[in-house]
Amino acid sequence: MRRTTLLALLSVLLLPAGTAAAAPVPTPSPAVRDFGNGPERNEEAALVEDATAALKAQAAAPYHHDKTRGYPRKNQLPLPPENPADASIKLGLIPHHAIAAKLNALQALGDRVSAEVLGRSAGGRDLYFVTVTAPESPAEVREQERLRRQIESGRKVPKNRYKTPIFINGNIHGNEWEGTDASLRVIEELATSPQAATLLKRARLYFNITANPDGRVLGQRPNGNGFDLNRDMITASQPEARAMRQIMIDTQPVAMLDLHGYVNGTLIEPTTPPHGANYEYDLFITNTYANGLGMEAGVNALGYTPEKDGVFPVQIPFRDSEEGWDDWPPIFTPQYAPFHGAVAAHTVEIPLRVNGSDYTNLPVEELRRRSRINTDVAAAAVRATYGHVLANHDKLIADQTEVFRRGAAGEPSRTVPLGIVPGFGPEDVYTTTYPRGYVIPEGTPAAARLVDHLIANDVEVERAILPFRAGGRFYPSGTYVVDMRQPKRGLANVMLEPGADISPRVDAMYDISGWSHALLWGAGVTSVRDLRVLAEPVRSAASTGYVPHGDGALALKVADGRDAQALNALLARGVEVTWAGDTATLPRSARAAAREVAQRYGVRFSRAGTAGGPKLAPVRIAAAASADELFTLREMGFAVTPVSTTLANAGFDWNAVDVLFVASGLSYTALNPAAKAALDAFLAKGGVVTRGGTGATFNAAAGLLTVTSVAGRGDANGVVRMASGEHGFVYSPRWFTGLGPEVKAEQTYEAFVSGHWRPNQDGSGGQDAAKGQAAVVSGQDERGARVVLFGTEPMFRNHPKGLFAQVARALYSTSQ
Ligand SMILES: [Zn+2]
Repeated sequence: MRRTTLLALLSVLLLPAGTAAAAPVPTPSPAVRDFGNGPERNEEAALVEDATAALKAQAAAPYHHDKTRGYPRKNQLPLPPENPADASIKLGLIPHHAIAAKLNALQALGDRVSAEVLGRSAGGRDLYFVTVTAPESPAEVREQERLRRQIESGRKVPKNRYKTPIFINGNIHGNEWEGTDASLRVIEELATSPQAATLLKRARLYFNITANPDGRVLGQRPNGNGFDLNRDMITASQPEARAMRQIMIDTQPVAMLDLHGYVNGTLIEPTTPPHGANYEYDLFITNTYANGLGMEAGVNALGYTPEKDGVFPVQIPFRDSEEGWDDWPPIFTPQYAPFHGAVAAHTVEIPLRVNGSDYTNLPVEELRRRSRINTDVAAAAVRATYGHVLANHDKLIADQTEVFRRGAAGEPSRTVPLGIVPGFGPEDVYTTTYPRGYVIPEGTPAAARLVDHLIANDVEVERAILPFRAGGRFYPSGTYVVDMRQPKRGLANVMLEPGADISPRVDAMYDISGWSHALLWGAGVTSVRDLRVLAEPVRSAASTGYVPHGDGALALKVADGRDAQALNALLARGVEVTWAGDTATLPRSARAAAREVAQRYGVRFSRAGTAGGPKLAPVRIAAAASADELFTLREMGFAVTPVSTTLANAGFDWNAVDVLFVASGLSYTALNPAAKAALDAFLAKGGVVTRGGTGATFNAAAGLLTVTSVAGRGDANGVVRMASGEHGFVYSPRWFTGLGPEVKAEQTYEAFVSGHWRPNQDGSGGQDAAKGQAAVVSGQDERGARVVLFGTEPMFRNHPKGLFAQVARALYSTSQ
C-alpha cells in the first residue's frame, strides 16, 4: 500500500487558486470518516421520536424475503401522507412520502421491478425493498433458493443456473441522501433498457431504497431513536438494522454497496488496515479491490473535474492511505455483509457536501447542483458494480461458495499471501485461531438472549442431548454449543472470540475496536478445542423463567437488564418490593405477578431469606444522557425524563425525580442561580449516577464525592477486565484517584482485553496507567445524596447487554 496519508494525498489535489465558479467551490474533505462519532456520541441534535412508534416497530415480526412467489410481484405500496417539511425537498431529491408512488410507477413500467415494504423504521416509516430481475416463475424462484442454500453449505452449483445477488443499500445515514435517488434512477434504467436484458437474466439486484427514512425526513444522521445505524449491525438494537441483516441473510449477496456521503474525491473501499481477522480476506480483497477499481473508472469517466465542478478524483483508502479507515469492527454494513457471503463489499462516499452547515447556509441552487452530481456519482458506482458482477459472474459465485466451504470444513484461518493484490503488505495481514466450538451454559436470560441473537444472525446453535465433557469441564444436557465447523463460522467467531488488543499494530482507528458478545453480553461463554457432543439444532433458546415452588416470599437478584425489566414491571404494578444489596424481595402475595414476569422476561426468582432493606418505589429518572443511554434506560423499563443545562435553566421540575443520571449535556457551572438552587435542593434528597467526563465534571462542580477523575486517551476503547473478574467496556476511559473516606471502589481496572488503547503523546492516559485504579465508585456525600460514578461505558450503543444491570443497580440503590 502506498505510504501516503489521506491528507497528503488530498493536499496535492487542492484546487488551484483563481478558479472562477459562480457557486462556492467545495474543498476536498478532510481525512475524517463521515461516520466518525467519537465518545460523546449521538449528541448532535438527534431528534428522538415518539417512543410508542419505536416500540411498535420493534414488536413487528421480522421481515423475511418471500422465496416462493414469482417475479414480478406487482405490489401496490401504500402511500404515506405528504410531508412538506421533508428535508430532502430543499435538495431537489425525492422526499420519503413520494417513494411509494414512484415505486408503484416503476413496477408498472414493465415486468422487471418488484417492490415491497419490508418493515418500519424506529419512527414508524415504511422501509422499501426492491428486486430487479427478469421475470421468474414460482418454480424458478424456488430453484434459485435451492441453489442459494447449496452455495451456503459450501457446495458448488452448476454454471449459468444461479443468478448473482447484488445488494445496494441507500441512505443509511439520513443526511447523506443521494444513494436513494441514485437507486431509483438505476432501477428506472433497468426497468426498460433493452441492454439490461442479459444482466437481469444472470443477476438479481436488490435495493434497500432508504435504510433510514427517519433520518432522511428529519435531515439527520441517526434514526428516530438517535442511533447511528451504521454502528448497529452486530448489536441490531434498531429495526432498520434488523431489516438490513435479514436482507443479507435472505439474499446472500456476492456484492454490496453502502452509499454514503460526503468525501471529496469520492471515497471507495477497500480499506486501510487493520483488517478484520475473521474474513476470508484473500477472496475478499481480490474481488473488493477489483470492483473498487471498476467503480473508480466509472466515476472518473463521468468527467467531473476539480476546476469545473469542484469534484476531485476517486480515492481508495487501501491504495491511497496508510491507516484510519479500517474494516476491523463488523458494526458497519459492508463489514458485516462478508459474513453472509459478500466477497465485494464497499462503503462509497459520494463527493459534494450538502449536509450540516452547508445545508443551512448554501444557496438552494448550489445545493441542488451538488446533489445532482452526487446522484450521478452514486449511480455510476452502482452501474460499475453490476457490470463487474456480470463480467465475473462465475468467479464471484465460486468465491462465495469457497467462503462457506472453508467455514463448513473448519479450515484454519489463512495467511493471505503478500502481493495478492498490488500493495498488499505485511501490515495488511491479520489472522485468527478458530476454536473447535463455543459452549454456552443454559438457564439464564443472558444465555437465552445470546443464543437467540446468534440464531437471528444465521449462526447455527445446537443443544446437547446428553451430558458431555469439553475443555476438561463437565456440561449437563441442555447446554448450548456453537460448532465452529459451519458456513458462517466467521460471524460466530467475530462475535464470540474475546478480540485482540491491536494497540501495538496501528496508531489510528476509525471507530470501536472491541465488542465481544461473549465477554459483554452476560452469558458465560467458553471456547473449546475439542468437541464431542450429541446435540441437535435449535431454532430459539429455551425459556428460562423460573419461580420456585412453595408459598413464601421471593427474591430477584438484578444480575441482568432483563431482571431490571422484570423488577420495573412489578414496581409499575404496585407490587411491594424491598431492596438490599443487589436483590429485590417480594412478598408471597406477589407470586402470581412474579410468575407472569418470569415468563415474559425469562428471569429467575429464588426463595427469599429474611426480607430486608428499605421499600423500593418505581425509580423516576432525570437523564442528561446520549440517545443510546436514554433508549437503554427506557428499554429496562425506567421512567426517564430528559434534562439538560437548557432545560434546567428554564425551570426543570425536580419534584418528580428520584435519581439524576448525568452523562452528557448538563453542566453545573452553566446553571443560572435559580436552576442551581433548585438542583441543590434536589441533591439534598435525591440520588446521582454519572458516566464519563461530563459526569465526573458534574460531580466535582456540584461538590458530591471526593475523587480526582483521570481521563484516559480520548479515542481509547474496548473490553476491559476488572479485578473482580467481571468484564467492562470503555470508550474514553476514566478512573478515580484520591478517594475520600466516604468513597468506595466498586470496580477496579485489571487488564485491557481487546480493542485499541494507547497512551497519549506524553505517556499519560494509557492502559498501564489505569491498571489497579477505580473504574466505578460509589458513596454518600455530606448532604446525604447517594452517588455512583462510572468511568466505564456500561450502556454504549445498547451493546454491552451484560453490563446494563450495573446501571440498574446503581439507580435502585441511589433512589432510596
Ligand atoms: Zn455515512
